[in-house]
Amino acid sequence: MSKTIFTGNFTQQEPIPEAAIDAAVAVMRSGRLHRYNTAPGDDGEVAHLEQEFAEAVGAKYCLAVASGGYAMGAALRAVGVGPGDKVLTNGFTLAPVPGAIAAVNAVPIYVEVTDALTIDLDDLSAKAKASGANVLLLSHMRGHLCDMDRLMEICDAAGVMVIEDCAHTMGGAWRGVPSGRHGLFGCYSTQTYKHLNSGEGGLLVTDDALMMAKAIMLSGSYMLFERHKAAPPAEAFSQVKYVTPNVSGRMDNLRAAILRPQLADLPAQVARWNALYRAVEEGLRNTPGLQVIERPEEESIVGSSIQVLVPGISASQIEAVVAGCLARGVELKWFGAPEPVAFTSRYDSWRYAPAQSLPETDRILAGLLDMRLPLTFSVEDAAVIAEIIRDEVLTARAD
Ligand SMILES: *Cc1c(COP(=O)(O)O)cnc(C)c1O
Repeated sequence: MSKTIFTGNFTQQEPIPEAAIDAAVAVMRSGRLHRYNTAPGDDGEVAHLEQEFAEAVGAKYCLAVASGGYAMGAALRAVGVGPGDKVLTNGFTLAPVPGAIAAVNAVPIYVEVTDALTIDLDDLSAKAKASGANVLLLSHMRGHLCDMDRLMEICDAAGVMVIEDCAHTMGGAWRGVPSGRHGLFGCYSTQTYKHLNSGEGGLLVTDDALMMAKAIMLSGSYMLFERHKAAPPAEAFSQVKYVTPNVSGRMDNLRAAILRPQLADLPAQVARWNALYRAVEEGLRNTPGLQVIERPEEESIVGSSIQVLVPGISASQIEAVVAGCLARGVELKWFGAPEPVAFTSRYDSWRYAPAQSLPETDRILAGLLDMRLPLTFSVEDAAVIAEIIRDEVLTARAD
């Protein structure tokens, strides 16, 4: 019997919606691409995007910036992280997260991951005490939200400020509270592989007037902060405007124009991602030796990628699964691979940070497979993909 082959492309996103293309063309025709190059009666696309995003997540203030990494860096600077400071973060995340910490010459302290693929709250509590760190850069890696109520209790009790990396959770929520709205700052990315696509871009939200005033000054506002429409009043800037360095990282009107119609579509896109996610999940459930990640009821997910655990599998067996799937058109990432590959890397390859030992994270990553679910796939595709993965896992385990 011939084996099923999948022919879809795992990195092919949908085209930019026509309304966004029209808005982008209008910005180009106007010549006013810089956010502060406004005209009478026109606040500009960036200011509008900030208002709309703030409203979408229920934040008082929003700042649009050049990337998700920039948003995290601005948040770290705004809360006062400086050279040599320790910052708690996830051991299981992607390179821009420890990179943002290293970029302010601070030191990442990695916290273990659990089998639910969320930050280990007991380890967090212990490391908050042991390290004396007063900031957590919390990565909702691959869209998995931990018990955010308990996390905030732990961090509040330990005097730890929380900055949320929501690159994979834009549109998600914990017990109805949008991701990015538990901590002091929420950081989002609008890079092509995230939930809104402007090629590059980022968003930062907070309810704290002083923190947002600092972030706006940092982003390169000069003294034009009154052109922001999702910003605190001018008084909030009086304390910070002379002492906050300009670390330019603004968003431009072209990207904002591309993003606004996509933001309006986000809830519908989330429903489409989740239909793909649930189809793959169903197809993989009850596969001997393979564990789907059961998502808590409190979590509103955005299934733009899916992860499974193959506990106790050997390195050569998991490599055989990845190779077998690839030969049949299904691109999996193995987070336990010793060498960083493309976007995937493990904490021990971030060698600018001090070496740390995370035995639980090692154990979990050794059996962790990951797959993107672009919206160019159909639910039928999702079922075919699940069938192929199931088959290859069973084959590898039998060998
Ligand atoms: C993509 C990503 C970021 C940063 O986004 P950029 O816009 O590429 O800087 C942050 N955290 C995680 C987990 C990411 O995957």
